Amino acid sequence: MKFLIVNPWIYDSAAYDFWLKPMGLLYISAMLKKQGHQVQFIDNLDRHTKGIEKYKKPKDKYYGTGKFYTKTVEKPKIINFIDRKFKKYGMPEELFEEKLKSIGRIDGIITGITLTYWYYGGKKTVEKIREFYPDTPLFLGGIYANLYPDHSRKTFNDLNTHIINGNGVQSLNQVLKYYNTEMINDYDWFEEILLDYSEYKKISYAVILSSIGCPYKCTYCSTPNMWRFKYKSLDKIRQELGMILKNHPNIKNIVFFDDAFLLRPDLEDMLFMLKDFNVNYHLPNGIHAHRINQKLSDLLKEAGFKIIKLGYETSNPDMQKKTGNKVTNLDLMNAVKCFKQSGFDMKNIGAYIISNLPGQKINELYEAIDFCLDLGINPNINEYTPIPGTKDYLELIEKNILPKNTDPLLLNNTYIPYWWEKGISKQELEKVKLYLKQKKKAIENERI
Ligand code: SF4
Repeated sequence: MKFLIVNPWIYDSAAYDFWLKPMGLLYISAMLKKQGHQVQFIDNLDRHTKGIEKYKKPKDKYYGTGKFYTKTVEKPKIINFIDRKFKKYGMPEELFEEKLKSIGRIDGIITGITLTYWYYGGKKTVEKIREFYPDTPLFLGGIYANLYPDHSRKTFNDLNTHIINGNGVQSLNQVLKYYNTEMINDYDWFEEILLDYSEYKKISYAVILSSIGCPYKCTYCSTPNMWRFKYKSLDKIRQELGMILKNHPNIKNIVFFDDAFLLRPDLEDMLFMLKDFNVNYHLPNGIHAHRINQKLSDLLKEAGFKIIKLGYETSNPDMQKKTGNKVTNLDLMNAVKCFKQSGFDMKNIGAYIISNLPGQKINELYEAIDFCLDLGINPNINEYTPIPGTKDYLELIEKNILPKNTDPLLLNNTYIPYWWEKGISKQELEKVKLYLKQKKKAIENERI
């Protein structure tokens, strides 16, 4: 059978291609091909997609990241009060139409939405697909569909969309069952399926996973609810990397999107193995600082790791314990000391801080920023988003701190400070961001 897989546009007030690749859809594509089906793939967020030059010359910034093509669009009513521009990120509409026209006959369409507050972009994408394929069966999966099954059904009901729950083989089998075609025996898809990136003609980086899930259970994080922690064998990782770099010899950046990259027991062996490939590696998802020791830090450096983000979130020890005990201030200090000793470029080492965590005091944000800057690393502030199913979310609902059935668009972390009276206000947050900006500038000036 012939399937079309589409990675939807993003509709938001800010988005940047900080190594965004639709991993779930790429896995689905590879699994379908393994079953003998044909797949055509349109990634609306592929900055180098064929035909884009007519609209914008694609330009890569540091380590293959870059800005999306954007267009300001009308805001949906529910966020009309937010004084931020609302934009469509990704392929120009006309180009998407051209691609849809050229696809020809297909038996089914598969799409997926990751961040829950990006459902609006998913809806706009499906609306466009329906102009060209009004009756072709269309399946929507991904994190949004899993976390908001009722909202998904309601939102996509008039677009005649099948909402798919679950992940991996389980979710794909729901699609195959619809066609009464051979289902996939439950093989270990994470071990067996290798991403080959053959869907992309030109690509400046590749994203892979050496593990999925995480054994921790942080109160604000949905990862443990979605996956059981498991890791790919070293042989398969070597094979996958070899294949990607053979098909795309220009790729110089490999990004591990693992949630728990450092937690596999054979980590040292993996880092030795990674040295064999002449590429930069990056770890943009906060790593576990407590795992870093001098030997591991040296191995990371020798293997070619560049951008490394540490999962820090808060400097308050009580809050660190209460939210999952994944890190302490001492862990962060030790990790940074090791990275310095190994000779990392400290401009590339960062730590994530969450703002607006339930119960967080504003001064904790300033303390966390100062702590990171004093260590000589780059703090990145991420606004908190309540995610259904997490301990924090359930508590917020139970205590009536967050209205039940809040539209996911309003839970966009950028928008929450505009309306959530129980959290840190927009003005307070702006002050924090300004403080960070000024301190960073002062440090820069001192360096000069
Ligand atoms: S350590 Fe990271 S991935 Fe694991 S549960 Fe906590 S926040 Fe989520």
